[in-house]
Amino acid sequence: MANVYIGLGSNLEDPLSQLQIAVEQLKSLPETALVGCSQFYGSKPLGPDDQPDFINAVCQIETQLSPPVLLSALQQIEIDQGRIKKRHWGERLIDLDILLYADKIIKTTDLTIPHAEIALRDFVLIPLAELSPGLVIPGLGSIETLILNLETSYLKPLIHL
Ligand code: ATP
Ligand code: CA
Ligand code: CA
Repeated sequence: MANVYIGLGSNLEDPLSQLQIAVEQLKSLPETALVGCSQFYGSKPLGPDDQPDFINAVCQIETQLSPPVLLSALQQIEIDQGRIKKRHWGERLIDLDILLYADKIIKTTDLTIPHAEIALRDFVLIPLAELSPGLVIPGLGSIETLILNLETSYLKPLIHL
């Protein structure tokens, strides 16, 4: 079993429900167990700013699915939930990214692990640290150091929105 972290994001059609549906879908992946999920957070969009704020969370799973098979399974969940590609870093119903896959470093045309932007995103690092304090990101160091190096954070736990 591999210890894997999935980043979830949505800013369309009741984002909170979209994340809840996606968590249920992660639970029903084959050869996979859901270990836990972070709180849900509100965040400012990356890219175009004429779009609604996002809700983000991170889930931890244990899985026997290989990285490419897991990526395909996550893309199928996105499609089943009704995601349609609009613009780069634009609005979306649900986005499921593989943030970390055990201690693997992968760079193929379809898959970069750790996620290419992991060190730059408050909405990824802060929920990750909540789930796994002291986590070391392969090639990048400790999560707490990466959080200290973030310029700013716009992240708000949902209860405080
Ligand atoms: P970002 O990856 O910067 O968060 P995005 O999530 O909006 O952007 P998508 O349009 O969802 O990007 O995905 C584009 C492609 O990213 C996918 O087709 C997939 O092949 C590739 N990809 C590379 N690494 C990963 C990863 N770790 N998790 C998910 N997709 C990945
Ligand atoms: Ca993404
Ligand atoms: Ca994605």
